[in-house]
Amino acid sequence: VTAATATRFHVPATLDEALAVLRNDPTCLVASGATVVLPLLAERLDAVVVDISALPGIASITVAADHVALGPAVTYATLLRSSEPALALLRTVAGGITGGPQIRTQGTVGGSACYANPASDVPTALVAMGATMVAAGASGRREIPASDFFRSAFTTTLLPGELLIGIRVPVRQHGAWGHDKLLTAAGSWPIAVAAASLSGNEVTLTIGAVCERPFQLPRLSLENPGHLSPADETAVRAAIEEAPIAWWQDELASAEYRQRVAPVVAARAVQYAARKENL
Ligand SMILES: Cc1cc2nc3c(=O)[nH]c(=O)nc-3n(C[C@H](O)[C@H](O)[C@H](O)COP(=O)(O)OP(=O)(O)OC[C@H]3O[C@@H](n4cnc5c(N)ncnc54)[C@H](O)[C@@H]3O)c2cc1C
Repeated sequence: VTAATATRFHVPATLDEALAVLRNDPTCLVASGATVVLPLLAERLDAVVVDISALPGIASITVAADHVALGPAVTYATLLRSSEPALALLRTVAGGITGGPQIRTQGTVGGSACYANPASDVPTALVAMGATMVAAGASGRREIPASDFFRSAFTTTLLPGELLIGIRVPVRQHGAWGHDKLLTAAGSWPIAVAAASLSGNEVTLTIGAVCERPFQLPRLSLENPGHLSPADETAVRAAIEEAPIAWWQDELASAEYRQRVAPVVAARAVQYAARKENL
């Protein structure tokens, strides 16, 4: 290994240090759990890596009166150990992440959000919960609603040199969550995800993994959320068909297939919310 092909690692102890490294080299790779970054290093032997794991509070969960603050490096395993009611949806997502204990103990919520893979679970949950993403960069901090954070496939609205430093999840007073996803095989990433927020007969559905970024449907008023009537099923299907989205296609499933299964997954999420199952 020569100097020109050696990977250089920075493990900054402060946010200012981390931002300085990013300012000096905007092409450097930010590593949280590194489950995505590590394989990339095989192709970029001369990469500069900023490992954010030593930053204060980067992997902690803090409870406030109206929100729960997550450090972006909170892992799925940490979520599964938390009992915060506001994190119930994220916990279900964490429990369903495939890849076994390695990914659950190493993969992070912020890493998944920043990777912005359409075929993933975390982005949909963050949009469904109305989370706020906190970014820090050369010109200070800014807050980005999760619904604006995911720009397109594998692209967020973080600016070059910006770091995701926090995620705020609002505390809800009422309503129930339901969640469902469809996999092509036991170990696959999802090809359709739905999160339902149900209050009485009113449901707000957030759908993901079927297009470049998660999308939320206008609130629907259903006849029987616990056992959808034919009219309810038609309403869910019509709302999804009317959504102004381009269906996502990758090696896991075609756009047409995703379009066909999205209403089924959405309907199941509503029923789970009504029956308080699966969460
Ligand atoms: C075998 C396997 C199975 C999987 N199964 C699923 C599944 O079922 N569902 C699912 O949704 N996902 C699944 N995943 C994906 C997994 O959730 C992600 O790989 C993981 O969450 C990414 O987190 P990380 O901390 O390792 O990211 P990293 O590799 O550290 O980073 C990912 C990307 O985000 C950037 N980044 C990370 N943190 C920040 C930050 N704070 N600020 C700015 N940029 C940042 C990095 O530079 C990189 O581009 C699977 C992955 C594997 C390998």
